[in-house]
Amino acid sequence: MNCKNNEELANLVEEARVYTKYGKLVDYIPALSRENKSDLSISIYNLNGEFFYAGDYLKKFTLQSISKVITLALVLMDKGESEVFSKVGMEPTGDPFNSIAKLESNRLNKPLNPMINAGALAVTNMIPGRNVEEKWNKLIHFVAELTNDNEVSCNQRVEKSEFETAFLNRALCYFMKQHKVIDGDVEELLSLYTKQCSIEMNCRDLARIGAVFANDGCDLETGKCIITKDIARVCKTFMVTCGMYNSSGEFAMKVGIPAKSGVSGGIMGAIPQKCGIGIFGPSLDQTGNSIAGLKLLEIMSKRYSWSIF
Ligand code: GLU
Repeated sequence: MNCKNNEELANLVEEARVYTKYGKLVDYIPALSRENKSDLSISIYNLNGEFFYAGDYLKKFTLQSISKVITLALVLMDKGESEVFSKVGMEPTGDPFNSIAKLESNRLNKPLNPMINAGALAVTNMIPGRNVEEKWNKLIHFVAELTNDNEVSCNQRVEKSEFETAFLNRALCYFMKQHKVIDGDVEELLSLYTKQCSIEMNCRDLARIGAVFANDGCDLETGKCIITKDIARVCKTFMVTCGMYNSSGEFAMKVGIPAKSGVSGGIMGAIPQKCGIGIFGPSLDQTGNSIAGLKLLEIMSKRYSWSIF
């Protein structure tokens, strides 16, 4: 079962919107701290071609951590599983996304998974290309293919703000460089990573990407298979085990769908064989997830029996 019309969806959004007051805007990236706290919007692409939306679904926001799923898919397609997973593990951490603690103490001698910052930086380091420009072009073309939108780009104001304040990410990179998880120039890697996190789109585009993952890697409208079924499966598995920061377990229990969030307040959902979801709600809970976005998904999952478990 799924929602039937925009009016039904708008009522659910209003029910969830009240929770925006209990959250906080992200504060460690200055450019993201100026959003409107009560914003909440959603788009849904059903695999049968139906499209629903509620709230200001064309408002743009940056992907932040949601981009980690996209770079993972890109790098897996280029390098294959064995090379990628020689540099990054497959285990959830239970730590905050930017934690450095387990980089040194875990038994794998590499970041635990590609959804935490250390692992995502290691993945971004594997994007093919001779320099930042070539790598960025490769990535943004891939995003354009996923959204079917050639205008998609990064928000330079957010990118600059993030690059200037990426102290923890710098620390993660230098640690990994010392231990040969990454190679090359750290500042160049950080510049590519901050560009990737600053890729900007609206809920509709995000739902479209979610639908590609839900549809085993194939675009709904063009029918083109952009990602292999196997890589779409790997990405969705990471979304289930580590996609919602250190509340992924609770999310699996209460909502039970593959999803990835970002500190901008975005959430991408990919319900296998059902639909892709894009949500934006910048008021965050303590773990960095959109507080009202989570509530909305919880309400919808119960109502439409979405849990995959
Ligand atoms: N650009 C952010 C960072 O690296 C992404 C974090 C997130 O969305 O979780 O800190």
